[in-house]
Amino acid sequence: MEVAIITAVDSLLSYAKQRQSDIISLIRRFVECESPSDDAMAVNRFVELVADTVTPFACVKTRAGGQFGRHLECEMSLPGRKKRGQILALGHSDTVWPLGTLRAMPFRESDGRLWGPGVLDMKAGLVFFVFAMRIFRELTVPVQRKVVLQINADEETGSESSRALTEAIARQSAAVLVLEPGTGLEGKAKTARKGVGDFNVTVRGRAAHAGLDFEKGANAVLEMARQVERIAGFTRLDRGITVSPGVIQGGTRSNVVPAVCHVEIDVRAPRAADSRYLERQFASLKPFDKRCTIEVTGGLNRPPMERSSAVRKLFSTARGLAAEIGVDLEESASGGGSDGNFTAALGIPTLDGLGAVGEGAHAAHESILIHRIADRTALLAKLVAAL
Ligand SMILES: [Zn+2]
Repeated sequence: MEVAIITAVDSLLSYAKQRQSDIISLIRRFVECESPSDDAMAVNRFVELVADTVTPFACVKTRAGGQFGRHLECEMSLPGRKKRGQILALGHSDTVWPLGTLRAMPFRESDGRLWGPGVLDMKAGLVFFVFAMRIFRELTVPVQRKVVLQINADEETGSESSRALTEAIARQSAAVLVLEPGTGLEGKAKTARKGVGDFNVTVRGRAAHAGLDFEKGANAVLEMARQVERIAGFTRLDRGITVSPGVIQGGTRSNVVPAVCHVEIDVRAPRAADSRYLERQFASLKPFDKRCTIEVTGGLNRPPMERSSAVRKLFSTARGLAAEIGVDLEESASGGGSDGNFTAALGIPTLDGLGAVGEGAHAAHESILIHRIADRTALLAKLVAAL
């Protein structure tokens, strides 16, 4: 019996290798169906393509995403008896690339890589998972748990409309596998992610003619300039907390003392408790010029994914399984957020960065390594079979 299982396990990798050209063809189809977050129609075209691809072996539902495309939920029909608790695979259909990017950045295969908008983040990861499911069906490998793939349409813009869905489905899950790319050209798994958020600060002063009534004006831009220095000082690099004023806007004309100035600030923090520190700091802002007022809104919109004992245990399972196919799987902490932040914050064992291996997410050199396609696909299958 033991021997039979080992043989079956080894066959996952060889099957993935045999199917590599089919995997690449599907990646190409996915990349060539562009899906920018802010274009619901384009995202929905991609969602339909994914739905058509998995329909032969999954029960597919879509849910309205408000101003975004539709969110997709696929319950896989797989061989084997099912025990309690499902496995949730999480991905997203949207990319940061506007429609028409393909003209300047077409899908191509060269230098041992696949290139194109969204190939790494995260269309290849979706394809790997689809093929992992095909392996189970075509080799009749039993899977012990129900497996659900959820693909959100708004991840790149903060998952506002999908968050509640992700959290509801995660609560019914024994483990969450996130199909985001791994870290670096080694494809390290992600076992910690910072929490991410935005603060918005508005200073209101008093408008006046810059020549006739200079002294009657309370200059909101000047006040904000002083506040920005203070806000940037909330950064605590030793604790991994970063505070980055990113967009500033104020004034109307140079001959008017400006009445209003806004700033948007990106914040990142590795621990849930850090959000209290940030809220306290922002609440403590006081105007230098007493005639000005300061209004603060915002906070962390993705809680941090902390390296909990549940996360560590899941990683160690993955590491063991990777070793069986000759891969030394390492772990990493990321400054960026994903939908895994939500599931990990609920205490559900979550492992992220299980998608493609490559580099250049959100950049012109976005690409994945072809020689890592088979082992990443096999690792996903092995994890689903083992959990
Ligand atoms: Zn992503």
